[in-house]
Amino acid sequence: MYLYMNYQLPKLDFAFDALEPAIDARTMEIHYTKHHAAYIDKLNTVMAKYPQLDGSLEELMSNIDSLGMAESDLATFRNNGGGHLNHSFFWSILGPKKSVDEVLQKRIVRTFGSVDMFKEQFSACALSRFGSGWVWLVQDASSSLKLYSTANQDSPYLQKHIPLIGLDVWEHAYYLKYQNRRAEYVSAFWNVLKLV
Ligand code: MN
Repeated sequence: MYLYMNYQLPKLDFAFDALEPAIDARTMEIHYTKHHAAYIDKLNTVMAKYPQLDGSLEELMSNIDSLGMAESDLATFRNNGGGHLNHSFFWSILGPKKSVDEVLQKRIVRTFGSVDMFKEQFSACALSRFGSGWVWLVQDASSSLKLYSTANQDSPYLQKHIPLIGLDVWEHAYYLKYQNRRAEYVSAFWNVLKLV
């Protein structure tokens, strides 16, 4: 009997080739069916050991210090629960016609000065992330916007922050098309999440 939630790949609301040319179909397919699926498999395996845990994945990640998991399971949860949360969020904001909503755009301009200044800081943040990680625009506990990057699959929920924009800067997210040219990938991102 399984009491725990069996996590599954979320349905994509776009085809693998819908983000071309910014994100190529082959990368999209491997990223979703292999990378994201692998995080989910490992997450389900670790969660099966803790059927008493209750709450959404966001809630569990926000309270990671009180889950009572063994240390190695905690690392597995942090990496793979984060992997599932991060990728699910990422797919949800992308699309050939997706754009940052007007309210958020106004908040971005108020916080960062202008859309261009925000994009500049966002790129700098993406390029300064050494190795694998993510770039995030989040809302913190005081409802302020914050821009930062996280290593590996660390989720903003670890800091009780709510993600508003996120970009995967692991090489698996762009290497087939862009190889080492992360900056090109970052600027192409704004074609599949419009912010003007
Ligand atoms: Mn990824």
